[in-house]
Amino acid sequence: MEAASYLLDPDLLREVLECPICLETYNQTQMRPKLLQCGHTVCRQCLEKLLANTINGVRCPFCSRVSRMSSISQLADNLTVLKILDCTTSCSAATAALMCKSCYNRLPRQYCHDCATFLCELCKEEGHLHQGHSIQPIRGGR
Ligand SMILES: [Zn+2]
Ligand SMILES: [Zn+2]
Ligand SMILES: [Zn+2]
Ligand SMILES: [Zn+2]
Repeated sequence: MEAASYLLDPDLLREVLECPICLETYNQTQMRPKLLQCGHTVCRQCLEKLLANTINGVRCPFCSRVSRMSSISQLADNLTVLKILDCTTSCSAATAALMCKSCYNRLPRQYCHDCATFLCELCKEEGHLHQGHSIQPIRGGR
């Protein structure tokens, strides 16, 4: 079994579907993808933290440009990301195949050799690492 069972490039998808600050996979609620005025996207939760430190704007941690706003609702959602997410949860088997095989809620970052399965951080601990399975991160060292 090798990583070629992916139909899409998992690294690419991860870049699109993960908040670059907290590295969590976006969702429709607390981790909603919010588009900053500079074009970068962060999750709602991180945006709230960024906003808590400033008065009338958020400084993008990636390009340092300031998005002027006083509340999160003034920023648009990243609709492209939401569309892909919607697809992963409802319609597309191809993208659903990219998600963690245990919870289908997050992108996997670990591969269990014993189960030949891709897993997210949370699922890796419970069902696999504790059983003595050999787990390897899919990204890193590159
Ligand atoms: Zn975040
Ligand atoms: Zn930016
Ligand atoms: Zn999982
Ligand atoms: Zn396992």
